[in-house]
This record gives sequence, structure tokens and C-alpha cells, in this order.
Amino acid sequence: MYKIKRFFDCQVPVNLCNFECDYCTVGQWKLVQGKGPDKYTPFKFPVEQMAAAVRPERLGGICAFNLCGNGETFLHPQIMDFIDLLLKQGHFVSIVSNGTVTTAIDHLCSLDEELRSHVFIKFSFHYTELLKKNMLERYFDNVHKAHNAGLSLTVELVASDGNVPYIEDIKKVCMENLGVLCHLTDPRANTTHDIRHLTEMPMEEHLKVWSQFDSALFDYRQATWGQKRDKDFCYGGVWSFNLGLGNGRLKQCYRNSDTVQFIFDNVDEPIHFIPRGHFCSFPHCFNSHVFDCLCGVIPEISSPYYIELRNRVLPDGTEWIKPAYKDIYSHRVCENNTPYTEEEKLYADGVMRLQNNMEPDEAFRTLITDCFNRLAEEKDISIYGDNNAAEWINANLDMKKFAAGDKEKMTIVTNFSDFAQIKPELGRESDAEIISIVDVLSRSR
Ligand code: SF4
Ligand code: SF4
Repeated sequence: MYKIKRFFDCQVPVNLCNFECDYCTVGQWKLVQGKGPDKYTPFKFPVEQMAAAVRPERLGGICAFNLCGNGETFLHPQIMDFIDLLLKQGHFVSIVSNGTVTTAIDHLCSLDEELRSHVFIKFSFHYTELLKKNMLERYFDNVHKAHNAGLSLTVELVASDGNVPYIEDIKKVCMENLGVLCHLTDPRANTTHDIRHLTEMPMEEHLKVWSQFDSALFDYRQATWGQKRDKDFCYGGVWSFNLGLGNGRLKQCYRNSDTVQFIFDNVDEPIHFIPRGHFCSFPHCFNSHVFDCLCGVIPEISSPYYIELRNRVLPDGTEWIKPAYKDIYSHRVCENNTPYTEEEKLYADGVMRLQNNMEPDEAFRTLITDCFNRLAEEKDISIYGDNNAAEWINANLDMKKFAAGDKEKMTIVTNFSDFAQIKPELGRESDAEIISIVDVLSRSR
């Protein structure tokens, strides 16, 4: 049985796409309108170094990586090399694709059986573009090829208003070519504060029209839409992440969440995980189908397993999701990790409040004072940082007391996002033990 330790949703820095979907939410439209960045950005670090940065020993075990471009994922010229290296390390790799880059799919189908069993392709089903570009046949050929080669897959259509007039055609094409209906995802205004639905139809009608696809994926997204998560403790930043493949920036979640660490340079530095905790700023979980159903980032929330949202059983009895993926999609990442104690949650929340320029509560002040007292029994402590956390510690804790004596030195770095870069610089200047503020509680115990 495979145990997935963490989940990484990876941004692939490619803006190029061979399609021009009118509902494109991932950025390709910018390129079409001539406003976007370059067609792709080369990775800042060699793929071998990127792979070394995410080796299972550093991450605590085998992990699941989802790769998605701002355009067509497979069109980034370095992505296949990175995928190969991830698979050889034993990780599970899912790729979001429009299903038309045949050379990439052929390559994945030609891998060894064990590696193939760790590949999942999300075939985005862009019906009108496939028609317009006369690529329907190529698309379904690639889906069949992947299925027959033992790759796991799902076929997913955007439930857009533009697709409504074609629903009967889409259902027919699905039944003729797949033997089952596709799954559905809802388009949304990703860049708006409320991440609203992108439909002009009354919501009741929108839901009724699309319910005929019987998609558990669509249903779960609707069920969690509008449910704020800021009263819950989220383990994003420890069990799940957003990882920019361009530069190795590891974030707790999307958009304005905090950077955990830049992990591609200094690959020998352990990753200092810090949970989002009570700081979810979204109006609802941005990708609840993954973060609840696959990750369990808020373990108290009950949800179906991810397998139910992705799989379909075909008329011949075969399934889109093959045994290895069935295994990991029938469990949650939270089941393979130990939840924080109340004290650990209190400490992480306090650090996050400092990071976000908020006053921590009295319980955190007591806890961090206790940590410093314990550390000061064996070390003379100094603070290094230029952020709110450093200011708060210097204003609220008696640092003169903690620094007094001629014990061995310890420096606590308060800018946790840059710790992996700051530590070697400080290490060249002093022989003090250098730790991140994130680790003060565990180091003091
Ligand atoms: S295939 Fe994907 S990336 Fe390309 S235009 Fe359509 S939605 Fe955007
Ligand atoms: S969007 Fe979901 S995963 Fe991200 S911080 Fe909020 S609850 Fe956690």
C-alpha cells in the first residue's frame, strides 16, 4: 500500500497553448490578447537539482505532484525531464492537459510498467476547441492510448455557459468514444475576491442543466462553495502546497498565502513547514475537491474520497483509475501524518499572526516566553530579522536576559520564508546555532 506524505500543486511556467478557450482561467488568454509574459520561462534550476530538492528523504516519503501550466502543461520544453525524474524517485505525478500533445502522451505510455502506474492525466475536455481545430479524433485516441497503457486518467469538461448549447452533442460524443459521461468542473472568476461562479444563468438552472452528467466532482465543488474556512485549522503548508517550478517557491496555498521556503536552492536544508492554520483568506477552499478529498487539510471536515470524484467504471468493466492510484485516492494525506498538538497549533498560529502583522494573543506570548526560557538554559539567544516578528519579540520579550552569559550562541531567524538563504550567510559569519522561528517550539522541547 502506498502512503502519500504530502501533496504539491505545481505551477508550470508555460503560457503557450494551442487552444483558445473562451473560459480559459489559467492565463492563456493573456497571450492571445498580446498582454501576457513570454511563451514559457525556463526553469531557474537544472531539473536534476529540482528533483533532488523534492527527493522522498527530504519530504518525509513518497508524495503526489500535480502539474499544471498557465497554458498547455506539456508545451513546457523541460517538463518531461522533470516528470521522468519525479517518477523514478517513486512519486506520483498527475498532469493537467488538453490531451492533444501526442508526443508527450506517447512518451508516458512507453515508460516501464511501475512508472506508468504512477502517472495520472487529467484530460481537460475542451469540446468546442476540439471541434474547431478538428482534433476530436486525436484527443480520444490519446485518451484510449493512455487507458490501454495502464495510466490513470479522468476526462473533465468545463460546465460553462458556452458549452450549454452543445450538451446533447457532448453527451453523445462521450458515450460513443468513452462509454461514459465526462466529469465536470465549474468555471470561476479566479482573480476576483469572491471567486464567483462564471455563469450568467440563474444558479438553480445552472445546477439543473449540469446535473445530468452525474459528476461527483461537480457536486462536491457546489457543496463546499461559499464555505469559509478561517475558523478551522488548515494544514496547508505542511501536508499540501503550491509549488512554483520556475523558481522553487513553496507556498502554503494559492494567491496571498505565505511562502514556506524557496526549496530548489540549498537542497540540503530541511524544509521548515509552517501551516496556514486559521489564516485561510479565501471565501471557500480554493480547490476543496483536492484539499478535502485527497489531502484532508482540515481533518475535521468529512468528505468523500478523491477516487469517487475522479473515477468512472467503463462498460467493459475497466476503470479510469488504476490500482496504484486507486490506492492513494482511496485515502487522504492526513491519514499518513500526525496532527499537531494544541500547543503546536497555538505556536504556529502565533507565528502566522506575527508574519501577517497582527498582534498575537496572550497564550502565545506565554508559550514563546517559556520556549525562550528553556532555550536560554543552554544557549545565549539573539534575534535576526527585519520583520514584524523581530520587532514584536524585541518589544515583548526580555532579550537582554536571554542573551546574557557566555554559553554557546543561538540565532533565531524571524523571516522564515528566506531562512534557507539567510542561514548559510549567517553561518559564514558566526558559529552560532541558527534556527528558524518556525522551529523554536520543537527545538525547546
Ligand atoms: S486548453 Fe487550457 S490553457 Fe489552453 S486555452 Fe484552453 S483552458 Fe486555457
Ligand atoms: S484554500 Fe483550502 S487549502 Fe488553501 S488555506 Fe484555505 S482551506 Fe487551506
